[in-house]
Amino acid sequence: MSASARVIIVGAGLAGLACAGHLVRRGVACTVVEASDEVGGRVRTDRVNGFQLDRGFQVLLTGYPEAANVLDYPTLHLQSFHPGALVHYGGRFHRISDPVRRPQDVLSGLMSPIGSLRDKLTTLRLRQDALNHRVCAQAGGGNRTTLEALASYGFSAAMRERFLRPFLGGVFLDQSLSTPCPIFEFVWAAFSRGAIALPQAGMGAIPAQLASSLPVGSLHLHTPVTQLDGKQVVLASGERLSADAVVLATDYATAATLRGEPIPAAPSHQSTTLYFDAPTPPVRGPWLLLNGDQQGPIGTACVLSEVAPSYAPAGRALISISLSDQTGSVQENLQGIVRAQFREWFGASVDGWRHLRTDHISRALPPIAYLADKNGAGSPRLKPELYQCGDYCETGTLDGALLSGRQAADAILADL
Ligand SMILES: Cc1cc2nc3c(=O)[nH]c(=O)nc-3n(C[C@H](O)[C@H](O)[C@H](O)COP(=O)(O)OP(=O)(O)OC[C@H]3O[C@@H](n4cnc5c(N)ncnc54)[C@H](O)[C@@H]3O)c2cc1C
Repeated sequence: MSASARVIIVGAGLAGLACAGHLVRRGVACTVVEASDEVGGRVRTDRVNGFQLDRGFQVLLTGYPEAANVLDYPTLHLQSFHPGALVHYGGRFHRISDPVRRPQDVLSGLMSPIGSLRDKLTTLRLRQDALNHRVCAQAGGGNRTTLEALASYGFSAAMRERFLRPFLGGVFLDQSLSTPCPIFEFVWAAFSRGAIALPQAGMGAIPAQLASSLPVGSLHLHTPVTQLDGKQVVLASGERLSADAVVLATDYATAATLRGEPIPAAPSHQSTTLYFDAPTPPVRGPWLLLNGDQQGPIGTACVLSEVAPSYAPAGRALISISLSDQTGSVQENLQGIVRAQFREWFGASVDGWRHLRTDHISRALPPIAYLADKNGAGSPRLKPELYQCGDYCETGTLDGALLSGRQAADAILADL
C-alpha cells in the first residue's frame, strides 16, 4: 500500500483507535468517523461535580498482553486494587487475597468460611494452568463453560458460590458463568500476571491516549455512518467518503446493521452501576467488595476513591455499586433497594450518601454465542476492501478490542 492510501475506520472505540494507530505508524493515512461526541465507545469517563464517573464500573488488567504492548502505562498513572477481595458473607467481610502477592493475608484467608485449604491450593493450580494456557485442556476442552471448568477443578460449593461466582459474574456480566472456557483462561491469566487498575484520570484516559497519537484532522466526531457502499461510506449528512479500504469498528449489533444483516437475536450482556458520594469511605483501602451472601441486588462494589483518590474531590468518597442481575430489568426504586442492602453492610450512615448517577448499559458485552462460536465473525476480512474489528471478534474485553484493531490493520497492510 502506498503512503497515500486511505482507510476509513467507522467507530472510535478501542478497536477503531487501535486499528488507526497501527496503520498510521505504518504510514497509511486514516480517517476515523465516530458517531458520538467523544472517542472511547464503551470506555468513557464523565466529570460530574468534581467526581470522575466511568460509564459503568470497569477496570484495566495490566496483565492483558495487547494492552501492555499498545498502551503507555506510565503516563496513565495506574492505581491498583489489592489483589483479592473483601467478601461479604454471614454478616461480615472476609478477606480473600492472592497468596502469591499478599502472603500476609494467607492466615486470615485460611480461617474464613469462603473456601477450604484445598480450595486455596486449587486456586494456585488454576493460576499456574492459566499462565500456561492449559485450563481448558485440563477442563475437558475449549467448548467448556467457565462454570464447567471450575467444576472440573473441584472447587467446593462455598468457594464457588461465595467468591468465584460473584467475582467472575461481575467480570463477565454473567452470573450463570457460561462464558467460554478459553475466555476465562485468558482473563484468569491476565489477573495472575498483573494488577487490576484504574488510570488516574479515569478509564477514558485509555482511548484518549490512543487518540492522541493520531494526526490532527484524522478524527471526526459527531459523524455517524448510515450505510456502506463498496469502498464508500455514507454519512448521516448524506455526504459520501471514499477510500481504498473501510473498517467496521463498531459494536457487534451496529456492525450487523451496517453489513445489512439482522441484529443477532442472542442477548448481549447488560450492566448497571450506581454511583454514590459519601463523606467518609465505608471501607479503607483499594478493595473490591463481593456479595458472597447470594442475596440482594448487589454483585460487586468498591470505593473508587480509595483506589484512585482523583476519582473524588478532596474530603469525599466515591462508591460504585454494580448489580448482580444483568438481565437488564431496571427495577423501580432501585436506589432504595441497593441502599437497604448496603445499610445492612455498613449501618445507617448509608442514608446520608448522595446518589450521583445510575449507568445502565444494555450492550455492555457481546452475546456469549458470538464469543463461543464466531462463525467467521472473528476474521478481520469481510470482503474485498471491507474489514471489521471490535471486542466481539475476540475475547469481548478491552484487550480483545485492541487486539482485533491490530489484526484488522495487519490484514489491510497485507492485502492492499
Ligand atoms: C459497563 C462495562 C464494563 C466493562 N468492564 C470491562 C472490564 O472491566 N474489563 C474489560 O476488559 N472490558 C470491560 N468491558 C468491555 C470493554 O469496554 C469493551 O470490550 C470494549 O471497550 C469494546 O471496544 P470496541 O472498540 O470493540 O467497541 P465500542 O467501544 O462499542 O466502540 C464502537 C464505536 O463505534 C461507534 N459507532 C457506532 N455506530 C457508529 C456509526 N454508525 N458510525 C460511526 N461510529 C459508530 C460508537 O459510538 C463507538 O465509539 C466493559 C464494558 C462495559 C460497557
